[in-house]
Amino acid sequence: RFITLEGSEGVGKSTNLARVVAWLEARGLEVVQTREPGGTPRAEAIRRLLLDPDEPEPLDDDAELLLVFAARAQHLARVIRPALERGAWVVCDRFTDATFAYQGGGRGLDSARIIELEAFVQQGLAPDLTLLLDMPMGAAQQRLEQRGERRDRFEQERAEFFESVRQAYLARAAQAPERITIIDASLTREAVGEQIEAVLEARVTA
Ligand code: C5P
Repeated sequence: RFITLEGSEGVGKSTNLARVVAWLEARGLEVVQTREPGGTPRAEAIRRLLLDPDEPEPLDDDAELLLVFAARAQHLARVIRPALERGAWVVCDRFTDATFAYQGGGRGLDSARIIELEAFVQQGLAPDLTLLLDMPMGAAQQRLEQRGERRDRFEQERAEFFESVRQAYLARAAQAPERITIIDASLTREAVGEQIEAVLEARVTA
């Protein structure tokens, strides 16, 4: 009942998140759509701290990791756990796989520390299904540029960073193939949508 969407920037996460929500709602299910970092007022305040492009002080990598998990603790307590407990479906834009990808792969933090924090904050709670939208780096960057996206602190990072993020996501998917399904996001919108619906048809049993 807990579905997450993952992928680097420019892979079509928002469009496809809306698609997953619509698919579940069309089957009469209660859906809570949310995102990370964020999802509650205080967690969104932490998100602003994390992403503020105007803050000149560099953010320490460990501080970044702890802030991501602080936001997650608040989000779990206030939104995700209550929703799951009342039987609603939760569809979340990014979750802990993003921490392994960005703070682990991107920033190079030791994944053993992420695993410790994951256990501490989540107490065994993990998504039931994760859709990883994957496409080659260059194509994703092109989409972002066409969109004229405002660049935040993270998006100003170099191509190398995003390649590490992508590889860390793919490594996660290889470790948990039963939970994480890789979606080829380089195809047309329609084709991506069809892949996602096929996964939902196969995996969602109300
Ligand atoms: O999902 P969305 O694109 O809104 O994420 C906002 C930004 O937060 C992204 O640019 C992503 O690089 C960054 N992020 C991060 N670490 C996380 C989650 C998101 O650096 N754990």
